[in-house]
Amino acid sequence: MAGRNALIVLAHSEKTSFNHAMAAAASSALRDKGWEVTISDLYAMGFNAVISRGDITGPPKNPEHFVYEMEVGQAWREGRLSSDIVTEQKKIEAADLVIFQFPLHWFGMPAILKGWLDRILTEGFAYSMAKACVYDQGPFKKKKAMLSFTTGGMGSTYSPSGINGDMNVLLWPMQVALHFCGFQMLAPQICYGVRYVGPEVRAQMLSAWKSRLSTVEQEKPLSFIPTSCFELSPAGGFMLKREVLAKQEGKQQGLTVGQHLGKAVPPDGQIRAQE
Ligand code: FAD
Repeated sequence: MAGRNALIVLAHSEKTSFNHAMAAAASSALRDKGWEVTISDLYAMGFNAVISRGDITGPPKNPEHFVYEMEVGQAWREGRLSSDIVTEQKKIEAADLVIFQFPLHWFGMPAILKGWLDRILTEGFAYSMAKACVYDQGPFKKKKAMLSFTTGGMGSTYSPSGINGDMNVLLWPMQVALHFCGFQMLAPQICYGVRYVGPEVRAQMLSAWKSRLSTVEQEKPLSFIPTSCFELSPAGGFMLKREVLAKQEGKQQGLTVGQHLGKAVPPDGQIRAQE
């Protein structure tokens, strides 16, 4: 990774939380290696996580039927987005690596972080279906991103036979959403059951995190299917090409959690990068 700018988007309301400790550990590990680090501490900022007409300045193009993604896309092109959105978009533009630090809430991101994605990743800035500027062709294709999160449940509960189900399935919508904008996704950092493990384990979690980040620029991203494997047109339904499907015949496993082809999901494809 040539650049050395990291953005940490932190979504926890309490300064004494383990999530804040993880963000502080990341910041110090990266700064020690010469990175510039910016932190968006969403609760401390009082970040507004709710999309509304107030996200654009000036009159809407269609006030009778306000279509959010079209209005904000147009506003982005015309420099009419609200200033809090522009501020966060500039932080992404400057970043080579974006780390999302959060506690798992209802098997996904906390609402304030989901709202950050809703409001900041506007059409045009973060993706363009019209220009097929998505996934590995997305605007952030030279940037890396990573989910770092804590859970209440212990790790076994998120295994393929655990009560909460396979963590890979939970990760897919969060990671594919970021990859949709082009981000190369690094393997997630998951701290399971942080409240229930002992202090020694938490200390190990923090030191493993710092150690990982000291060489993060050498990491390979997770694998997603290249857009070139799909028919990229409404007529083709944006489906896998016939020749790609033909190569999968007779195989026991599908390609990804999403493109499983009705077969077994490949193990840990959303958790570990392929060697
Ligand atoms: P904290 O409670 O803040 O910290 C854990 C421990 O770490 C504490 O003992 C703290 O003192 C200690 N600590 C803090 N700083 C340090 C440090 N520097 N060094 C060492 N120790 C330190 N869980 C699930 O698994 N699935 C769900 O779907 C889910 N949904 C939820 C929905 C909601 C609305 C909420 C509120 C919780 C949910 N949870 C769920 C639980 C949640 O994910 C966990 O409570 C959370 O991940 C714990 O992280 P924390 O930072 O809040 O931990």
